Amino acid sequence: MVILMLGAQGTGKGTVAGLLSETLNWPQISTGDIFRKNMKEETPLGVEAQKYISKGELVPDEITVPMVVARLNESDAEKGAILDGFPRNLAQAEKLDKILAEKGKKVDLVINLTSPKEEIITRILNRRVCSNQACKTTYNLTMHPPVKEGICDKCGAQLVQRGDDSDKQAIQNRLDIYEEKTLPLVDFYTQKGVLETYEISEKTGRLGKDVAEDILKQIQ
Ligand SMILES: [Zn+2]
Repeated sequence: MVILMLGAQGTGKGTVAGLLSETLNWPQISTGDIFRKNMKEETPLGVEAQKYISKGELVPDEITVPMVVARLNESDAEKGAILDGFPRNLAQAEKLDKILAEKGKKVDLVINLTSPKEEIITRILNRRVCSNQACKTTYNLTMHPPVKEGICDKCGAQLVQRGDDSDKQAIQNRLDIYEEKTLPLVDFYTQKGVLETYEISEKTGRLGKDVAEDILKQIQ
């Protein structure tokens, strides 16, 4: 079963994807991880991808999509996998569909996470990241604070605020761009009858773990 996660940053997408992955024991797949693995192992697609990444260019869909599908065909993803952060646009979604179909697979469920904009902005403003590049654990000053202020629980390194997380207007712009880019994907998967929208909100008391529980109930 292929599950795809949609949701702007700050909606709690990482939390929900992580809980699903842990409970179901299905891999959580991001294109960043796939690129790194293929480049490290110097697979033909990895070598191609490296050419673009080293120039700071976007890796074309012709390379990215087959790489994702190859990852979905690995043994640990036999029962299911959770795709996070891919596809990013309609062209990628259509290509993914086509290549999956050739393997007798499809996107079975699309989880579209939403959250009231004001809550997202507050969450991002409160976000702190571990400065240790090998750790990069994310914290939230109100929802998930570190035990010791300013220090990472896992590795003891200092927590920092990413520059683009401190500017309210910049966050607002990012959210607007995300919405505009994702709308065609929402339409595409709605038409296929596989999209489900869940709202995460502190105001209504429905948090990431509640949403994850609801999703698990219908899968298991
Ligand atoms: Zn850390």
